Amino acid sequence: MLPLIKEKWNEILEQMKIENDISEVAFTTWVKYFKPYKVEGNMITVSIEKENLVLDANWFSKKYRMPLIITIAEVLETEFDVQFYIPDGTEETEDNIIEESHTETSNAALNAHLNPKYTFETFVVGKNNDIAHATALAVAEDPGTYGNPLFIYGGAGLGKTHLLHSVAHYVLSKNPNYRVIYVTSEDFTNELVFSIAHKQTENFKNKYRNIDMLLIDDIQFIVNKESTQEEFFHIFTTLYESKKQIIISSDKPPKDINGLEDRLITRFKAGLTVDVQPPNYETRIAILKKRAELDNIKVDDESLNYIATNIKSSIRELEGALKQIYNFSRLRKQNINFNLTKEALENIISPEERRPVTCELIINTVAEHFSISPDDIKSTKRNKEISYPRQICMYLCRKMTTDSLQAVGNSLGKKDHTTIIHGEKKISDDLKNDDDLKNTIDILIKKINPPT
Ligand code: ADP
Ligand code: MG
Repeated sequence: MLPLIKEKWNEILEQMKIENDISEVAFTTWVKYFKPYKVEGNMITVSIEKENLVLDANWFSKKYRMPLIITIAEVLETEFDVQFYIPDGTEETEDNIIEESHTETSNAALNAHLNPKYTFETFVVGKNNDIAHATALAVAEDPGTYGNPLFIYGGAGLGKTHLLHSVAHYVLSKNPNYRVIYVTSEDFTNELVFSIAHKQTENFKNKYRNIDMLLIDDIQFIVNKESTQEEFFHIFTTLYESKKQIIISSDKPPKDINGLEDRLITRFKAGLTVDVQPPNYETRIAILKKRAELDNIKVDDESLNYIATNIKSSIRELEGALKQIYNFSRLRKQNINFNLTKEALENIISPEERRPVTCELIINTVAEHFSISPDDIKSTKRNKEISYPRQICMYLCRKMTTDSLQAVGNSLGKKDHTTIIHGEKKISDDLKNDDDLKNTIDILIKKINPPT
């Protein structure tokens, strides 16, 4: 029976897709990875051969078991039951790029201040963001049930806002009456301040409590704003308790946001946290090609390679480079070619190699990550918010540079070499049991030295 099922499998999936209105995105993200694995009696085991799946077999079963059973019965004229199985091997899969499909921007999307270009269809999926993408999509399909809140973090220009908007577009395309609000934490704060000044806090509260989904971007900007955090906490709790989906983005994981109330951190950590990383070379090329296609820019492979080789840390910068070349070529009335590209990007790309890793760079990066100043790190302040990042600096300087203990001590504000040894050891020891710390150190290493 298995060979016959295998032969008819694509037909089964296609038919299931059409009859159940499965979206193109859901299809390319999951369904196309369904494979008939084995048949025992009337039970077909379907394996999902995709790396890094964040969803479990149960979830797939709830969503796709019945549609599959019905379609299989129609195509094969035999009734089978279906169960899902997720192999735990690490199969190689290619970075998967979602085909573009044009969608009309609905009025609802316009009202929610969404960028019509930021949809799942235009989002290029690579190893750097596949989990964030799949999770966001799962949440968009079943708001409020999968992970609440969904917390997406990562460096600047890596697609967090794009993902948030994609979710909003997705839910609105299914139901234009869905009440979704997208807001940056800065606008949220300004709105609150305004409502207090104009004695309209009731309106403010009502606005945010009577919705189906809240997307709040760049939450790190509410640090140290106590009344905003207070109000946000109450809104969060109301929405959460009525099982309304909340999605939050930030430049760092919840535990690293200094100046955020503990009760908020606890709430955030109780949901689902995913990250977006800088893209690798292949994904950078794929993103550039997608962008060029969407904007109708003709650009040769050598130029694409030049951009993707030299701009690594931000997708926004990749896109900026492409735009700059395009403008340059229009100004010059020339087609884009390698020479033109090099000239156009002279100011952005300096041909010298990657920046060297120095203690100075490490201190600046760690300070930025924890929202403190480099001078704090070099100071003798002893509160934990500063002394712990300082010890992380000691650890990373020892690990990532060849500087001597004394040199590291000097960079950190003339610290004694025994202090450096102690700090380094403290972090090494903590790393053995503290997965959160391990995660922070991984993030910092990538920030200091982005992958090639
Ligand atoms: P962030 O909010 O993380 O700072 P954005 O979501 O604003 O980043 O993304 C910056 C730019 O890069 C946007 O123009 C966005 O469309 C684009 N971008 C980011 N990630 C992707 C992706 N995976 N595929 C295509 N474009 C992307
Ligand atoms: Mg953003």
